[in-house]
Amino acid sequence: MHPAFADIQFGPFASAYHSRAMTPEFKEALGAFLEKELLPQVEQPFESTSGTLVAAYDEERCCGPNSAVRDIYEFEFAFHRSSGDDTIKVELVFHAGARAFSARGNKPLYLWTPARRDRYLAEGRHIQHLCGRIAKHEGVEAVCPLCSAVLSVHDSPSLFDVSCPNRCFKYNYHRDPANGQLLHGHFFRKEPGEI
Ligand SMILES: [Zn+2]
Repeated sequence: MHPAFADIQFGPFASAYHSRAMTPEFKEALGAFLEKELLPQVEQPFESTSGTLVAAYDEERCCGPNSAVRDIYEFEFAFHRSSGDDTIKVELVFHAGARAFSARGNKPLYLWTPARRDRYLAEGRHIQHLCGRIAKHEGVEAVCPLCSAVLSVHDSPSLFDVSCPNRCFKYNYHRDPANGQLLHGHFFRKEPGEI
């Protein structure tokens, strides 16, 4: 196993099923999965690591032979360095027959590095700024900053709504029809790795 993944803390577990499941083969399979899917995303040298794996459904009654959830785990991990950690928090599924792991929902693992975090926040600010300008009719081009698709804009006295046809984001605000002021609203974004 790669040394980065040698000190993951397993459990504690309440159920006998999960306590028994933590075999050397289980840990080897996890290490191999992380080495293949997570380690290549690390961009900077790291000084140390830490991680935990606990069962998502740890009650004994969730661990019967036909349980669909007993092999789901919550996994948290960080690569530590003084300039900022890489972090991930994800649900993993263990496939006992194949001795293999996957992320729940088959999403790719996404490691939040400092650069990715900064970029994500900057993109969010950029999108909100653009939507603010569209709302004020400043004559800006309504094009998605992330994928360049032409945005769909709904602009009426009571609702202002901008969304990307590729679902990069959705921004909507209710307006006070009396004075056009933005009241409450929502800003959704696609998670990295989502299709
Ligand atoms: Zn887009």
